[in-house]
Amino acid sequence: MQEYLQNKREKMNNHIDRCYLDMGSKTKRLEQLEDEDFFDMFTKNEKCKNCIEPCCLRNPCCYVPDDFWSMDKDYLEYLLELNLLCIDYYYNYSYSLESYYIRPRGYSDKDEYSDYNPCIFYKEDRCIFDKYERPIQPLLFISNQGGCFPIYTINQIVEDYKPYQEILKELYKKYSASKMKDKHIEDEKIKTLVKRIIEKPLQN
Ligand code: SF4
Ligand code: SF4
Repeated sequence: MQEYLQNKREKMNNHIDRCYLDMGSKTKRLEQLEDEDFFDMFTKNEKCKNCIEPCCLRNPCCYVPDDFWSMDKDYLEYLLELNLLCIDYYYNYSYSLESYYIRPRGYSDKDEYSDYNPCIFYKEDRCIFDKYERPIQPLLFISNQGGCFPIYTINQIVEDYKPYQEILKELYKKYSASKMKDKHIEDEKIKTLVKRIIEKPLQN
């Protein structure tokens, strides 16, 4: 767990650095925080609880390669076989952006097309994951008055997934959102998923 936390924090810091480099001002404050306080800064439980239109109810967030110890095909199958995550395809032809990527399943995944696809991990007005377990992309939503500002932008997500497109394209045949079998979510499976994400695989 400790190794996972340190690794995740380091990865998050890299993304924050990248954003602040673009904005031209980097704060030392984050580096001085204990792990507990560092992750508290990004979970925004109170803010999310009072949100008028929670993002998790509109669409699931996404995982990024840095959420995982490995992007090997076997390792990804080990996570995807639990039927809680899926592979989706993002495209925006106006901006020449397209990418396969991994995300939590949504309750409307089986439907042909839906604007409203609540995340299966959103229960009783909150994300069921502990602050350490939540994917990096939603952790890096920064609250501001007009809504939430993503540090991890879609351009960056597309860029970071680029080296893994062939693997994801192959897995998409089996694990695309529309292939998901049922909407029943077993709590035991969620615990298994978290364990599989946190524990470093032996081959690494
Ligand atoms: S991250 Fe922002 S938009 Fe999403 S639920 Fe929290 S406050 Fe609302
Ligand atoms: S995994 Fe958590 S943060 Fe991401 S959309 Fe689902 S409920 Fe929200």
